[in-house]
Amino acid sequence: MAEHIGIGDPPITVQIKRSARARRYSLRISNKDGAISLTVPKYAAMGEAVEFARAQEGWMRKHLAKKLKPLPLVFGGSVLFDGEYRRIEPGTGRAVRFEDGVLYVPGKPDKLPAKLRAYFKTMARERMVAASAHYADLLGQPLGRITLRDTRSRWGSCTSDGNLMYSWRLIMAPRPVQAYVAAHEVCHLVEMNHSDAYWVLVAGIFPEYKARRGWLKNNGTVLHRYMF
Ligand SMILES: [Zn+2]
Repeated sequence: MAEHIGIGDPPITVQIKRSARARRYSLRISNKDGAISLTVPKYAAMGEAVEFARAQEGWMRKHLAKKLKPLPLVFGGSVLFDGEYRRIEPGTGRAVRFEDGVLYVPGKPDKLPAKLRAYFKTMARERMVAASAHYADLLGQPLGRITLRDTRSRWGSCTSDGNLMYSWRLIMAPRPVQAYVAAHEVCHLVEMNHSDAYWVLVAGIFPEYKARRGWLKNNGTVLHRYMF
């Protein structure tokens, strides 16, 4: 069971990791999403861990501000696509092309984010429609409308009349994660909740759901840092 503490105001969430091997306290900020963990000796008192983290509040805030800053999209830079960092290079013609691991974007630099966004949205639609159809088929459920949006708070949702919504930013996540979100929402066509019965259903069509869900929890915020 993970333990979390909140430091300061607004609180910084610090996950406490107890380790039999740890002799001292060590604080870590994830490069990917800025998640903070504090490794403590196995039987360390919680009060001491809180005190230690509190003394590092300034350091944590400074690093968080740096780590969570927006990521600009520029030629010569990179962006996540299907879970991998891909270089962005100037392209020719009209359409964005993905070739040999490089994203070729035609047009002027100031149009780059909008062009890439349109391409990502199209790709996300293709993927999420295909994956949703696949899992709906497995469950024998009819599919409603599917919309792609840029949502902050959720990766997908399902309405009671069977329409599904996904964030097109999922195209930046690894493909198995995209598939998981589709399976997750499609299962809501049967169970409109997160009950035990619901998770049994998910496990039935997507056995490795925990790992994929974990990826989103740990890395999801980075997908929102790109400035399209
Ligand atoms: Zn859900």
